[in-house]
Amino acid sequence: MASSRRQEIDTLVAEVEREFRETAGSTGISAPDARLVDALRRVPRDAFVPDDSARFAWENRALPIGHDQTISQPFVVALMTQLLELNPQSRVLEIGTGSGYQAALLAELAQEVFSVEVVPELARAAAERLQRLGYRNVRVRAGDGRRGWPEAAPFDAVIVTAGAESIPPALIEQLKEGGRLVIPVDSRWFGQDLTLVTRGTDGTVHRRSILAVIFVPLVGGDGGALAPES
Ligand code: SAH
Repeated sequence: MASSRRQEIDTLVAEVEREFRETAGSTGISAPDARLVDALRRVPRDAFVPDDSARFAWENRALPIGHDQTISQPFVVALMTQLLELNPQSRVLEIGTGSGYQAALLAELAQEVFSVEVVPELARAAAERLQRLGYRNVRVRAGDGRRGWPEAAPFDAVIVTAGAESIPPALIEQLKEGGRLVIPVDSRWFGQDLTLVTRGTDGTVHRRSILAVIFVPLVGGDGGALAPES
């Protein structure tokens, strides 16, 4: 029913806003932008989860999408998106297309989105879903996202939605001066530090830890786990 869906969306937005407030001491951000909240309301998260999870689609939690992968928790998706500081002219690279939900959110806020997914079946399904939902400004490619998307570089923003052992150098190289990269980087003990990397206009690179998060791992193009980069 339309009215109950509306209520579910309102509840999710309230949850996301509450979590922004509760984590502000660590993230430095007390609330999501109005444009981001509008985009969260518009992207039909229920179209990005498997049918058997559809009833949980508007809850603030990660859900399985097959191939041992998950669609991330809406709060984390919102926080990472906010950190990118997108505008309608932005060109964005995403690594880890998964269901395509994050890509759709980016597509609502930016001009062009390029998204790379290492599992070919997920890449294909996400591309079809985004097409069906009318997102014409997203391109999806199957491959190892650690290499970025050199032909489309440089980007205003890069977002990695899988936990990396270290920051792939190609992703920093493909960032414009003044650009922003958001990536979960494995912490020493458990999970990852959500890390914001900014590339200064003088070419310097700044790195800041934002929040402790838990993501599925960023893997190699052969589907296996990667040896640590040194
Ligand atoms: N952003 C997704 C959720 C990401 S889950 C969404 O909105 O649904 C992480 C995804 O990263 C998984 O689909 C996984 O297959 C993918 N992934 C892992 N390693 C990768 C790599 N090296 N390159 C591209 N994608 C990768």
